[in-house]
Amino acid sequence: MNKKTVRDVAVRDKRVLVRVDFNVPLKEGAVADDTRIRAALPTLNYLLEHGAALILCSHLGRPKGKAVPELTMDPVAARLADLLKRPVIKLDDCVGPEVEQAAQKMRPGDVILLENTRFHPEEKANDPDFARRMASLAELYVNDAFGAAHRAHASTVGVAQYLPTVGGFLMEKELEFLGKAVEEPEHPYIAILGGAKISDKIGVIESLLGQCDRLLIGGGMANTFFKAMGFDVGDSLIEEDALPTAQSLLKSAGSQLVLPVDVVIADAFDNEADTRVVAPNEVIAGWRILDIGPKTIPTFKSALTGARTIVWNGPLGVFEMPNFARGTFALAETLADLNAVTIIGGGDSAAAVHQAGLVDRMSHVSTGGGASLEFLEGKTLPGVAVLEDK
Ligand code: ADP
Ligand code: MG
Repeated sequence: MNKKTVRDVAVRDKRVLVRVDFNVPLKEGAVADDTRIRAALPTLNYLLEHGAALILCSHLGRPKGKAVPELTMDPVAARLADLLKRPVIKLDDCVGPEVEQAAQKMRPGDVILLENTRFHPEEKANDPDFARRMASLAELYVNDAFGAAHRAHASTVGVAQYLPTVGGFLMEKELEFLGKAVEEPEHPYIAILGGAKISDKIGVIESLLGQCDRLLIGGGMANTFFKAMGFDVGDSLIEEDALPTAQSLLKSAGSQLVLPVDVVIADAFDNEADTRVVAPNEVIAGWRILDIGPKTIPTFKSALTGARTIVWNGPLGVFEMPNFARGTFALAETLADLNAVTIIGGGDSAAAVHQAGLVDRMSHVSTGGGASLEFLEGKTLPGVAVLEDK
């Protein structure tokens, strides 16, 4: 990576503003899944061990520019203190005189967590004065929030105008794995795309088709391709607007595209619905495709055999319902067993890999949903662009 990280700068006795991605799911006022907090620990522990004082900031949910009590960082602070095994001082704002005073008093080893940056409309507007006030708290800015790096907000981009700016270890790992897939993937390079909608992922499909040797399509996304092939897909989720795109992709990609050879259909969008396995052109009127079929699983598996690089984004079925999760979990297991660089992008796909207990057997499970997609599209992420070059 040609971007500077915390390793490349002096941090001892410095106040360091760290943008983390603590946008975690909450349940009944507590952190329901602390994966993102854990993902920041290597950077935070490194900085603490090297004598820095930490001022952490993140957004949480969508408070729309005002203070929303349900979206306070309090539960995050509690969980972080447990994980760091040291006190975390949670402040009630992310700018202002009280925050400035608290920052001035810090000593090496202290940890402050600022309040939700999105409580201020200036965060998303990337307001320069707001960014300057947040930056004034510290002497160095570290961005470790890969998951927010596709947004040019005050805490991801604006503050970099006023402080030396480097990446954290999570940012470094994301850029290393995703960067290698984009810039110099080892071939055969096979991509797998699923999920709900094509329209979110047209850019990714096009850029992947330019690079990979084969593109396997499953999930709701496959339905629109089936429809574009003239199949009647019943009540399956499809996107009318994306039909022309699907048609032209089918034509231009030819045999590079691999679609399911059979599908699981159901008479209702319900785990307990009646199900059948049929060919994609045999969907019963009023039924819907909710998973890839049992013949497609070995078809995909053999398409993946011998691959050196695999990128997977989007579940192959409605994996939230156990009866339609088979394809997604079978794919996760296939990837876990392969001797290839395996990269998982997308929030739901990452959740499926977590659920399957296979995170440790993938090369890299990205913490960034939208950010990983934009990166794979070949876009420059604003939160990455501001990191200083080596
Ligand atoms: P990711 O977050 O990994 O990028 P997406 O958000 O694009 O993935 O898609 C995930 C959603 O796609 C899941 O909620 C899943 O239920 C849904 N999905 C997958 N296959 C189908 C299908 N055949 N019909 C309807 N929804 C589907
Ligand atoms: Mg998703």
